[in-house]
Amino acid sequence: MTSHSTNLLRPGIGWTAFFPAKADPMNLALKSPQPRPGILEIAAYVPGKEHAPGVAKVHKLSSNETPLGASPRAIEAFQQAAFNLERYPDGQAHALKDAIAAVHGLNPANILCGNGSDELLGLLCHTYLSPGDEAIVTEHGFLVYKIQTTAAGGTPVTAKERDQRVDVDAILAAVTERTKIVFIANPANPTGTYIPVDEVRRLHAGLPAGALLVLDAAYAEYVRRNDYEAGIELVSANRNVVMTRTFSKIYGLAGLRIGWMYAPRDVVDAVDRVRGPFNLNTPAIAAGAAAIRDQAFNAAAVDHNLAWLARVSEALTAIGLRVTPSVTNFVLIHFPETGGRSAEEADAFLTSRGFILRAVSAYGFPDALRMTIGSEEANEGVIAALTEFMGRK
Ligand SMILES: *Cc1c(COP(=O)(O)O)cnc(C)c1O
Repeated sequence: MTSHSTNLLRPGIGWTAFFPAKADPMNLALKSPQPRPGILEIAAYVPGKEHAPGVAKVHKLSSNETPLGASPRAIEAFQQAAFNLERYPDGQAHALKDAIAAVHGLNPANILCGNGSDELLGLLCHTYLSPGDEAIVTEHGFLVYKIQTTAAGGTPVTAKERDQRVDVDAILAAVTERTKIVFIANPANPTGTYIPVDEVRRLHAGLPAGALLVLDAAYAEYVRRNDYEAGIELVSANRNVVMTRTFSKIYGLAGLRIGWMYAPRDVVDAVDRVRGPFNLNTPAIAAGAAAIRDQAFNAAAVDHNLAWLARVSEALTAIGLRVTPSVTNFVLIHFPETGGRSAEEADAFLTSRGFILRAVSAYGFPDALRMTIGSEEANEGVIAALTEFMGRK
C-alpha cells in the first residue's frame, strides 16, 4: 500500500487536506461526493451510555432493556439457527409473521417485519415523503422520527406537548397540505405517558385522508390501562394508520434487531418494495417467533415491571424528586436546577456507583434523567443512591 492511500484511510483526512483552497485551483475538493442537502444537519442518534469507568459492577438502566433477559425458548431457537447460517434467511420472515399473527389475532398479510422498528420508521419516511413534505413529531418525541424524516428529504414539524403528554390539538393545529406523516409514540419515550384511545381516534379523525398516522407502540405490552389501545383496531378500520412494535423491550431481544408493523395492505405493499430483501436475519426470525409464543414469560415480565415501577416511583417521590407518572418500563425523574442536586450532578453521582441512567437533554429535558426499571438489586440501589444524593449537604 502506498503512503498516499494510507492517508486516505485516516479519518478526517480527505481531499480538502490534500487540496487546501489556495492549492486547489481546479476545485477538486468540490468534486468529492456530497450528501443530499439536509443530511449533514442531522444530529446522529446517541444511544444510552454503557460504561461507568472504574466501577466493578454496572447496572445499565439507560436504554429501556429488560432486566429479565429473553425467553429461554427464544435463546434455544437462536442457538438452533446457528446450524443453518450458510443459507439466506426467508426474505418474507414467514415464521415470525405467522407467530405474531397468531398471538395478536391478525392477518399475516398485514404484517411487515423490520430490522428493529427503527428500520420500519425509516422505511415509512423513505416510502411516503417527497422533498418538502412535512412529518409532524411532538415536542419530546422519539428522535428517530426527526432523523428519518430529514434523511428522506422531508421536513419535521414539531407540535408542542402539554404536561409532558402528546397534545392532539397542537398536532391538528400543525397540519398543512404538505403533512404526509404524523408520528406519535404511545406510550411515549422518554416521558412514559400515554394518551387514551379516544384521543388517538380524535387525532385520526382530524387528519386528512392522505396523511399517514404512525402509532409507535414500542412499550404497549407494559401498559395496564382500560382506556389504552396500541392501535390494532384503528389500523384495521382505516387506510392511513400504521402501528409499529418491537421485540427490543419486553421481549428482551434488542441485540437481534426485530420490529414489526401492522398496516393496511397498500402500505405493506409499498414499503415491501423499498426494504432490503433479507432485512431480518435467520436467528432473529427464529428467536422472535419463539419469544412471542412464550406469553407466560411475557406475563412474568409485566408483573415484575408493574411492581417495581410503583415501588421506584413512590420511593423517589418520597425523597422529594418529581417523577412523571409512567405506564412503561422507565421513569422520567426531574431534578432541582440548583443547589448541587442537578440532573448532571445526579448522573455523575449515580455513574460513580455503577448506575447508568439516560441523560435526556436532547429530548428537551436538561433537568431530568430517565431510569429503566431494572432488577431488584438495581432498583433498590438507585433508590439508596438517590436518597444519599438528595440528603447531601
Ligand atoms: C425503544 C424504542 C423503539 C424500538 O426500537 P427498535 O429499533 O425496535 O429497537 C421504538 N420506538 C420507541 C419510542 C422506543 O423507545
